[in-house]
Amino acid sequence: MKKISLIVPCYNEEAALPFFYRAINEVSQIMKQYEFEFIFVDDGSKDLTLNILKEYADRDKRVVYFSFSRNFGKEAAMYAGFKNATGDYVAVMDADMQDPPELLPKMVDILEKEEYDSVATRRENRQGEPILRSFFARKFYKIINKISDADIVDGARDYRLMKKSMVEAIISMSEQNRFSKGIYGWVGFKTKWLPFENVERVAGKTKWSFWKLFKYSIDGIVNFSQVPLDMVSWGGVLCTFVAFVMIIFICLRKLIFDDPVVGWASTVCIVIFIGGIQLLCLGVIGQYLAKIYMEVKKRPHYIVRETNRKNESKKNS
Ligand code: UDP
Ligand code: MG
Repeated sequence: MKKISLIVPCYNEEAALPFFYRAINEVSQIMKQYEFEFIFVDDGSKDLTLNILKEYADRDKRVVYFSFSRNFGKEAAMYAGFKNATGDYVAVMDADMQDPPELLPKMVDILEKEEYDSVATRRENRQGEPILRSFFARKFYKIINKISDADIVDGARDYRLMKKSMVEAIISMSEQNRFSKGIYGWVGFKTKWLPFENVERVAGKTKWSFWKLFKYSIDGIVNFSQVPLDMVSWGGVLCTFVAFVMIIFICLRKLIFDDPVVGWASTVCIVIFIGGIQLLCLGVIGQYLAKIYMEVKKRPHYIVRETNRKNESKKNS
């Protein structure tokens, strides 16, 4: 009997969890030929999420929960799930029903019958999302696909079903700054895309503010592309070249026409302008430096405070 592991990151999801649990139960009833494992990762919730998970675990043997010592973010929660999944097929699913559980039978069917390693889902539209957020999200996908070699699909959700081999590849990428959409693209493997209509969350509210998303997008770019660094270098070369031409021009003008130098204001403007560019470039380099700093510290991705999984050896990983 093949086993399916469902990884569910939960952060303050007390309102959505009952709906979600009912839905995955229904799906598992339909798919009787598979064994299920529900891995709930409580990402330091401040509400009753953990109590609800414990309740489920008490009456349902398939439920495994890991509770983090604080909020480590969805990426860390997914990584914990991957590391502890024991299924032949592994899927990540949000607890808010935005990743429709009823798609699961179709996804499993594709992996069983066709030559794919993973089935990923993509939102066809961004209905119900603020206009400004959609606009910036689209721009972000355009830019990152131009400047990185990881194939990142616009509207792709983290919801996907994978074979074990792909999960192992993902676990082997143990970087601290995780950007899953890029990691999925980077490891490669054959992926089939399933488009679906965007659904709004069933209860509770989104954990992503505009600012959080903005920082996440910068993470994505810095993690998967060195183009900003190249741009900074070429910008430096260009500025030096322009300055060199200007110096020659000014010298010649002085020697040939004996023109006195005028324009204090324009000089100051140029100095400030160049200073600004230098700071900007330093900032870009600093972004990469900060990432290196975090990587070399080799801190654990997450810390588990409580779990019902026996002999959980890699507690802090
Ligand atoms: N989540 C998490 N840790 C966080 C933020 C979110 O585990 O720090 C979980 C959350 O509980 C949900 C999923 O990640 O199951 C997606 O979050 P959300 O619905 O807020 O994001 P959106 O769907 O709006 O992109
Ligand atoms: Mg959601």
